[in-house]
Amino acid sequence: MSSVKEYKCLSCKAGLEFHPPTQNWKCNYCFSEFTKEQLDDAYQQEESKTPEEDNLELDSYKCTSCGAELIADGTTSATFCLYCKSPTIIKSRFSGKFKPKNLIPFRLTQEEARDIYKEWIGKRRFVPDEFKGKREIDKITGIYAPFWLFDCHVEGVIDGEGTMVSSWSDGEYRYTNTKYYRVFRRGNAEYHKVPVDASKKLDDKFMHLIEPYNYEDLKDFSMQYMSGFMAEKRTVETDAMGEQLKEQVNKYATRLLDDSVSGYNIVDSKNVDIDMLDTKWDYVLLPVWVLTYISNGKIYYYALNGQTGKAVGELPVNKPKLILFAVIIFLVFFLIVVLIGGLLI
Ligand SMILES: [Zn+2]
Ligand SMILES: [Zn+2]
Repeated sequence: MSSVKEYKCLSCKAGLEFHPPTQNWKCNYCFSEFTKEQLDDAYQQEESKTPEEDNLELDSYKCTSCGAELIADGTTSATFCLYCKSPTIIKSRFSGKFKPKNLIPFRLTQEEARDIYKEWIGKRRFVPDEFKGKREIDKITGIYAPFWLFDCHVEGVIDGEGTMVSSWSDGEYRYTNTKYYRVFRRGNAEYHKVPVDASKKLDDKFMHLIEPYNYEDLKDFSMQYMSGFMAEKRTVETDAMGEQLKEQVNKYATRLLDDSVSGYNIVDSKNVDIDMLDTKWDYVLLPVWVLTYISNGKIYYYALNGQTGKAVGELPVNKPKLILFAVIIFLVFFLIVVLIGGLLI
């Protein structure tokens, strides 16, 4: 049994790709389209078998269409054959503990992603021209990025002392009245589907900026959705993030409780107790269109939320263009000054 998977057209046997506008699978050769149910029926038997062990040392896989060696590094889970462009899925990287629970399917097609990029880059004046070229724009790639979705219920208690001070004067003496109160607050908060980047490969900064995703679109994971996209395997486990997240939740919950106490001159929270209960982590894949480019040895990213179209990116600035712009401004300024100067004489 092959360790890679390719969903083939049920009519002509060419590779099938997921088609975002219809949320079905489409053949690029005979243009047949298939629903999830049709693919489930056709591939059901095969998928119930357990995949072979993944050999992480070798990372050698063969395309089922043309037999060429597939180029896939240690975390690539879905890719394309370099030679025949067939969409290919490395089955073992979606199995066992690496089987995602859910995913959000792509809503934007590559054409739509390109158009959004073109509009974005068009507004940027000082960008080197090669970033606006078709060759660059065509490189935009749909990637299923691994994420953890975090859920928990937080219960917090603060127990402390509040001090109220009032003072007045009768002309002769100054009186100060200090009252002490026990301050007790109990509160709870829900964290629901907080996304945490589970890949070291994709830049956290960009992933945060293209959030939020609409989780109503979450579907049960199926390898079929990977067909026609790249996918990454997670490289971050939850225990690595637990402490950091706990700290954040603690800080946030303490602040919420503190903010609920008012009317005192001084509040001394003697006891703060924050409990995280029912903590749950779900492994999911989220759709991103990504464009990377290298300029002067630095990697620049453009990332686009594959569901909502929210985009973020950074670009190198073209120095000669900037200088030209400055020179033009200077010339215009100079001309105006000269003109005004001329009028004054
Ligand atoms: Zn076909
Ligand atoms: Zn091939």
